[in-house]
Amino acid sequence: AFQNVGFIGLGNMGSHMARNLIMAGYKVTVHDINENAMKKFSDDGIPTKQSPLEVSESSDVIITMLPSSSHVLDVYNGPNGLLGTGGRLGPWLYIDSSTVDPHTSRKISIDVARCHLKEKRGHAKKPMILDAPVSGGVPAAEAGKLTFMVGGSEEAYIAAKSLLLSMGKKAIYCGGNKNSILIFVLKAAKICNNMAMAISMLGVSEAFALGQNLGIKASTLTDIFNCSSARCWSSDTYNPVPGVMESVPSSRNYDGGFTSKLMAKDLDLAMASASGVGFKCPMGSEALEIYRKLCEDGCQSKDFSCVFHHYYAGKDE
Ligand code: NAD
Repeated sequence: AFQNVGFIGLGNMGSHMARNLIMAGYKVTVHDINENAMKKFSDDGIPTKQSPLEVSESSDVIITMLPSSSHVLDVYNGPNGLLGTGGRLGPWLYIDSSTVDPHTSRKISIDVARCHLKEKRGHAKKPMILDAPVSGGVPAAEAGKLTFMVGGSEEAYIAAKSLLLSMGKKAIYCGGNKNSILIFVLKAAKICNNMAMAISMLGVSEAFALGQNLGIKASTLTDIFNCSSARCWSSDTYNPVPGVMESVPSSRNYDGGFTSKLMAKDLDLAMASASGVGFKCPMGSEALEIYRKLCEDGCQSKDFSCVFHHYYAGKDE
């Protein structure tokens, strides 16, 4: 059993996940390149460190929750990264919960094994690594109700299970490295889900904007959608029109959700996967263009539902 958990990446998801671990009684040490994100933890007396390497020195287990592949590679292999030289007793379990492409997951698992051989860090046994992306948005992260899709050795999964269930309601074990095809399929499923979510958010936003231009109040249209055939997650759970639903990003100036930049990243992954198998996704590529443009227009840090406000509601204001 372990006590000391290092958590890296205190953004919209990670900040809640780390808090849930603390509430469950783990001794958590945190790091983020954003000083403001760290301050919220240091103000509460939670130890913060200036680099991933320093976190690794005081942790048995490391969890990373970072935006994309390049950030994960940087945190593992960059200067003062987790696998940097000079660390004393390294962690024996690494869990990456970021949504990244399968090649990155494979690379860091090879790097962890290599680093152990080279450094012979304190532990007799080889450190283990789990790939554990999540499903569920910020509300699920806050409520500790995420679903983890876990790839790696069964021994590592068993060791990590109670830790994962402190942040989630479900952990689905998908097999070890030999089963990388299954993990690949799950990642592909996540990318397909997010592509459909992007397209449905655009459809709902466009229809609401048309409705408003035709004189229908957004709340009326929401009531109609939600008992009609247009009902979907973007209309009944994550409505993009400010004021229609409480506790969603649209009602707090589109802050604190799934950023447009991350949506553009996932659409990029979807389009790259599609072209890899020679498949065309006309709606997906249109959605990618719209989300790229939204980021260029300065909305990269706003929740992806801000597409409603930026493209549609603002038009004739
Ligand atoms: P976020 O951008 O809000 O948070 C990422 C955090 O990582 C930020 O605080 C950032 O400062 C930090 N960071 C970036 N580079 C760093 C580095 N080199 N060292 C240390 N810290 C660094 O992102 P998020 O919404 O929390 O999402 C995290 C991951 O989870 C992404 O891969 C995303 O696709 C996935 N995800 C997000 C949601 C969601 O609804 N937000 C849902 C499911 C999965």
